[in-house]
Formats: sequence, C-alpha cells, structure tokens
Amino acid sequence: MVTFRGEPNQLVRLNPPIGLLKYVRFDDKGEYTTENERVIKRFHHHFDSVPTPDKAPTPDMTDDLEQTFETTEPTKQWRCDQCEFISDNKGVLLKHKKTEHPKE
Ligand SMILES: [Zn+2]
Repeated sequence: MVTFRGEPNQLVRLNPPIGLLKYVRFDDKGEYTTENERVIKRFHHHFDSVPTPDKAPTPDMTDDLEQTFETTEPTKQWRCDQCEFISDNKGVLLKHKKTEHPKE
C-alpha cells in the first residue's frame, strides 16, 4: 500500500487507462492511497510517495466522472406490509405502522 502526495482534489487522468481505471483523484488532503501495483509504478515517476500500511485505499474511479460525484450508496427501502407506505428509514416505517395500523 502506497500513499502518493499531490494537490488537494487533484484529478489525474490515466492515459492509457490502467484496466478500468481512467482517473484517480487525490483527496482533500492531497493524498491518494492505492495497492494497485500498476498505478504505483506509474505514479512513482510523477508523485512523492509515503508507505502507509494501515491506510484504506482511496476508492478507484472506474466510471465516468459525472457518475462519481453522486453518492451511489443504495438506500434500503422499508415497506409497510399493510399498505403502500415506503420509507428509507426503518424508524419512520415503525412510526407509520404505530399510527396508521394500531394493534387495537
Ligand atoms: Zn401502512
């Protein structure tokens, strides 16, 4: 695992791409951490590096740039089993069931 130092939020275009990897972006501290040997080899020529054995890799950017700015975390949907009510928050659903479908 290697961390490279660049400019904060610096976007680096990989040309040619490394596998599916077309871009990497340094984080807001100007660091990019990777265990991808091919990225490490290429970046060694351009950026300073520090070994970081206990750091998590910076997520790779394999998709088009536009998509990487969205938070793609899928939200779990909680569905009422007694009506059409849907919420992405379990607490909201429980509250709904309590008020809309009281046991009594
Ligand atoms: Zn309901």
